[in-house]
Amino acid sequence: MVGPYSGYLLRIDLSTGRIRREEIPKRWLDLYVGGRGLGLKYLYEEVPKGTDPLGPENKIFIMTGPLTGSLGPLTGRCCMVTKSPKTGTVNDGYAGGHIGPELKYCGYDGLVIEGRSEKPVYIRIMDKEAEIRDASHLWGKRVYETSEEMKKEIGRHASTAVIGPAGENLSLISCVAVDSHFVFGRGGTGAVFGSKKLKGIVISASERKMELPERFNDAVKKVLKESVMTEANMWAKTDGTPIIVDMSNAAGVLPTMNFREGYFEGASGINTDAIKSRLSRRVACHSCPMACKKKIKTRYGELKAPEYETIGTMGSNLGISNIEDLAKLGALADDLGFDTISLGVTLSFATELTERGIVKTDLSWEDAESYAKMIEDMAFRRGFGAKLADGVRKAVERIGSETSRYALHIKGSEIPAYDPRGSFGMALAYATADRGACHLRAWTIADEAFGKMNPYTLDGKAELTKELQDKNSIKWSLIICDFWLASYEDMAILLGAALDKEISVEYLRKCGERIWNLSRLFNVREGFSRKDDYPPERFLKESHTKGASAGKVINIEEYEKALDEYYRIRGWDRNGIPTKAKLMELDLSEEAEKAEREGVSLP
Ligand code: SF4
Repeated sequence: MVGPYSGYLLRIDLSTGRIRREEIPKRWLDLYVGGRGLGLKYLYEEVPKGTDPLGPENKIFIMTGPLTGSLGPLTGRCCMVTKSPKTGTVNDGYAGGHIGPELKYCGYDGLVIEGRSEKPVYIRIMDKEAEIRDASHLWGKRVYETSEEMKKEIGRHASTAVIGPAGENLSLISCVAVDSHFVFGRGGTGAVFGSKKLKGIVISASERKMELPERFNDAVKKVLKESVMTEANMWAKTDGTPIIVDMSNAAGVLPTMNFREGYFEGASGINTDAIKSRLSRRVACHSCPMACKKKIKTRYGELKAPEYETIGTMGSNLGISNIEDLAKLGALADDLGFDTISLGVTLSFATELTERGIVKTDLSWEDAESYAKMIEDMAFRRGFGAKLADGVRKAVERIGSETSRYALHIKGSEIPAYDPRGSFGMALAYATADRGACHLRAWTIADEAFGKMNPYTLDGKAELTKELQDKNSIKWSLIICDFWLASYEDMAILLGAALDKEISVEYLRKCGERIWNLSRLFNVREGFSRKDDYPPERFLKESHTKGASAGKVINIEEYEKALDEYYRIRGWDRNGIPTKAKLMELDLSEEAEKAEREGVSLP
């Protein structure tokens, strides 16, 4: 393939069986770059207001970025955009492995899947050829087996994205697993596949080559030396995300027993040392010198080492202090096709209800066996597992509204593994995240509890949140991994070299802000506004008794002030609606007109 873009998408309609290759408007590539930006633009244009996320009208956009498949460091990840059945918002997620590069080498910048099949199918893409194949023999199988079988059927190197029983049974906390180790984790992506009777995708390119201008090699060498292989990023190579466990525990933000505490006595049993002492091998995404993923030896055999988010939400949050038991639980969750963040927080919610005598279950803190049984029941919607199968918001509807105070979510999405009472900016970051509570859009804790800013104030956090959200919007459009702290200058060097033209930092900044505003416009069109941008009650009213964050709560008046400030900096009104002037400034006037035609009143 020549150049950073093929300029084409592959579009597959599962209702009609029609498969076609179509050109991407050149202007969209200039304005949205790729990945998140381009996926959101297609979502905004093609998925109308009020679309049922589990209906045939919802679409799946699997997008690459201009650097995907190149030798650019940490650029091998891939983006999936859809409307979330979990939150009703936009949903973009990123998975490593090889699916993005394979798609690119086959000659496509993206894959659009629409409609709904009558019977189980999977999509097979080999070079330019694609077909929809029967998946009756795979339906009902778990993730690892499905992925292996699909690869075997193709008979050569291939990459897969598949769902397990949780996705088939339309669990709103199910995910799509890539190459059995990576996930499009959040937002119920597995249920979107399941609703289309799509068991998975397998992609294989016979030639893995991308020809870029000569200067691209020099640009790669430069950023590798000056920005990637530096002390700031080496944690990814030496430890990976489990290094955060001890940092979070020290800061009092490690979720413990359904976020009732932020300090866990058993943290040393599930931290990075517990993993490193059992290391069996490392796993890397395409063209990544970090290889941050790990496999560990356990008494249950070789297992995937849990990432920090799994450790925080399914480990300390469930009182589990043994890394081998936790890895086994994580592997079960992966094999059934669950998002481990939502799963862990849903299990901790149910355990607290059990402890308080509100419901009767066998769940008990520290008891990995009781959790394993419940996870199976959730995947197949059996017994009490049926009440929990869609996460905490749905569970509250099924169990009783008096339980809502124990349900930790924002916009329906369970809270990730940083308790904001030890790093207040995370409350604003979670609440203003466009896909519901998300730690990645603005990881303010790096500057707060893990950095130099005062973590116990919201002063200055509105600006920080906006800056990080915009930056990640463009970073995820190029699709650069979160674990490289790439600067705007780094991104400009790589993209400029790939396109063989000058790319300015100002251009990238504007793209990032445009993309964030487009996702807000989508959500506003769906009825979201200020009322949805608040942290859950527990963070406002209950404090921890132990650790660095003991006694702290988010003050609601200060939060309101920070939210006002955030909207003001964004150029939105007090209700969180983007103004026409801001949208015009960002070249979004056509999108604004479309929103108005669909009944949105823009200030
Ligand atoms: S740092 Fe880890 S997640 Fe990121 S690209 Fe490399 S192997 Fe993949």
